[in-house]
Amino acid sequence: MDLFEYQGKQYFARYGIPVSPGGVADTVDEAVSVADQVGYPVVVKAQVQVGGRGKAGGIKLANNEAEVRQHAGAILGMDIKGHTVHRLWIEKASDIKEEYYASFTLDRSKKQHLGMLSAKGGVDIEEVAATDPDAIAKIWVNPVAGLDEATVREWVKAANLNPEANEGAVEILLKLYHCYIEGDATLVEINPLILTPDGRVHALDAKVSLDEAARFRHADVWDTFEGLEPRDERERAAYDLGLQYVGLDGSVGIIANGAGLAMSTVDIVNQVGGKPANFLDIGGGANADHMANALSVINQDENVRAIFINIFGGITRCDEVAKGIVQAMQRVNLNSPLIVRLDGTNAQEGRAILQQHESERLIMKPDMLSAAQTAVEIAGGKA
Ligand code: GDP
Ligand code: MN
Repeated sequence: MDLFEYQGKQYFARYGIPVSPGGVADTVDEAVSVADQVGYPVVVKAQVQVGGRGKAGGIKLANNEAEVRQHAGAILGMDIKGHTVHRLWIEKASDIKEEYYASFTLDRSKKQHLGMLSAKGGVDIEEVAATDPDAIAKIWVNPVAGLDEATVREWVKAANLNPEANEGAVEILLKLYHCYIEGDATLVEINPLILTPDGRVHALDAKVSLDEAARFRHADVWDTFEGLEPRDERERAAYDLGLQYVGLDGSVGIIANGAGLAMSTVDIVNQVGGKPANFLDIGGGANADHMANALSVINQDENVRAIFINIFGGITRCDEVAKGIVQAMQRVNLNSPLIVRLDGTNAQEGRAILQQHESERLIMKPDMLSAAQTAVEIAGGKA
């Protein structure tokens, strides 16, 4: 789960990382009342999960109520790289002497945590990495050994920040590592980390991604932050039903048992000229409930014109799957025809069950390729 900036700052604040006082606002009036509370000047910040908000006009300084009204009005509803702004974060404006970059993330190839610190902050770190890689001081942290203060001190020295900032940076980096580890984050990033004219260091932006697989260890954090996660609606519905679903933008719905087969199914639909509407792994033991749930999720997708069910029975028995499909068809009012390929354990029995219900709404095919072709033809995917 990716947090919005304001959530990331609330998360940082729990760990003692200094952030500016502020509040969220969903309307212009709310923005004014937050600004009145924190005191002018304030910064009005679009809350969308995409970088470069500043350049896109989603971050504005406001010196008084009139300017808050003007900027909040302009930013709410604004489109930033395909993300609509529904919420603002209003915070007390900071004076900036210098802008730095700091982050921790996972380096999978090294099997260690990677810390990055740069005196060149406030800009795209990818750009710094490409044009001036030496400007990024990196450390790799053995997850078992952890990170000690002496190491952080060396690291900060290597980054050549303004020496005034060193002490504050060390403190913040230790806290940043702590919240990265304790929350099972996959990324914590502060860009910019600023030095103020009076020598304080603090986080002006926050990017936090939490590991979905560790959710059960952090129920409180997830409950607090999850509400506003802008998940694909289809994905949310599937997630609530315990399905492995990824929304795509084509017209052929896909249900398969096993992630490998589901991926192959996506491939073969592409190969015969169609476009998959989703990836959906129904898992092992695909019973009527699983099938009905999977079909209902795909059925909500308005782009879907055909649904390709691709089952290879191993432990899963095809006759059970066939019963599941029949029951699911009775329970869910499907908008698109089903094209079914059943193979493997008890395939004969399974096909016999489906044969009794064969129609233009339920088409059986003997193999994966012909099933894909039929599904794509029905979906009109072939140019
Ligand atoms: P991003 O563009 O989405 O990364 O949004 P940021 O929150 O990082 O803000 C972008 C830039 O706006 C920062 O690098 C700063 O230069 C500027 N900015 C943000 N907040 C303040 C502030 O409180 N005071 C000043 N002077 N500039 C700010
Ligand atoms: Mn930023």
